[in-house]
Amino acid sequence: MDLFAHPVLSAWFRRKEVCVVGLGKSGLAAAAFLKRLGARVSVTEKQPRQKAAKWVRELPPGVFCETGSHRLLRRSWDLLVISPGVPAEVWKPHAAAGRMVWGEMELGYRALSLAGRWPRRAAAVTGTNGKTTTTALLGEICRAAGFHTVVAGNIGTPLCAVAHRLDAGAALVLEVSSYQLETACAFHPAAGVVMNVTPDHLKRHRTMKNYAEAKFRLFQNFLPEETAVLNAADPWCRRLARTVPGKIFWFGRAAERRGRPGVFFDGKRLRAAVPGGRAVWDPPRYLRGYHNVENAMAAAACGLALGAGGAAVRKSFERFRGVEHRLEEVRCRNGVHFVNDSKATNVDSTAVALRSFVGGLHLILGGQDKG
Ligand code: ADP
Repeated sequence: MDLFAHPVLSAWFRRKEVCVVGLGKSGLAAAAFLKRLGARVSVTEKQPRQKAAKWVRELPPGVFCETGSHRLLRRSWDLLVISPGVPAEVWKPHAAAGRMVWGEMELGYRALSLAGRWPRRAAAVTGTNGKTTTTALLGEICRAAGFHTVVAGNIGTPLCAVAHRLDAGAALVLEVSSYQLETACAFHPAAGVVMNVTPDHLKRHRTMKNYAEAKFRLFQNFLPEETAVLNAADPWCRRLARTVPGKIFWFGRAAERRGRPGVFFDGKRLRAAVPGGRAVWDPPRYLRGYHNVENAMAAAACGLALGAGGAAVRKSFERFRGVEHRLEEVRCRNGVHFVNDSKATNVDSTAVALRSFVGGLHLILGGQDKG
């Protein structure tokens, strides 16, 4: 059945007065989704009209859009839907006053679960670095396992834009930022990964503790049988592991294993030991650097948690060529390899990228100084 024709969904959303806060990819997807569900939708965007024009043009007919201020927020609304780029100061007072405030991802989750179509195999990947690579690889593992797979979230396509393609039997792999987790409340994947927690986005989260705790909101609705995948070498993962209500699979170097279930690297191969199975794999053929071994271990552990077998993991390790702009080999000229790693956007990701090379290295570096 067409998701938008679902009787429970339409009954819930029809004629609801909803304000989407912040345009951009997520706001646009949320507004279009809500409109198709029969809600009365308005949008408020802080940027002036000229700057927001390309997004405003894409709004479906019948959606009112305010630009240049958030005056619309003074009215009363049945529901506020927040884009991930909107600072918490804008929406926190409304949530504190008891109003319904959801992020775009939360909206997708609520709609799918109301319709009984939230995938049983849903996994969310978060962390400071390695999210996109791990999400893409986990998507490959799910496909290799024969699951009908949808990859969405921060990686490019908002959940609301693909929700109509999902049902309970699908596999959903979501890349999730800490911003999206701040506005998540009922959101409930069956497996989740925290890659690492290193300094980034501290302007917005202020302290490392806030930032780490925002990431661990991923697990807030976990049941005891559901699986969190955590980095054994990461101090924040180790510290916050005890707050996870589900099972934990760890990943890291073999020396960090200490008898725990998960996927570990012995210096040559990846070894999985989880309840119900063991497996050994060569590292992904086309990826460079130990950080990519970490991404592979995390994706494999999460794949096993979702019910993909060891053979699916092996197949995807042999095929996966990485994601563009992440240590991407551009070309080799006169014996010089040119590598594009423009997605290394903080100190830690740049450092791990540099550690992935032996021999002479010339670095062309630009961007925002994050200390
Ligand atoms: P994200 O989606 O979290 O930004 P990506 O997979 O897009 O992560 O990788 C971005 C950059 O971060 C890469 O180009 C690489 O330099 C670095 N990186 C990738 N994986 C890791 C990791 N596991 N730990 C630290 N840095 C990483």
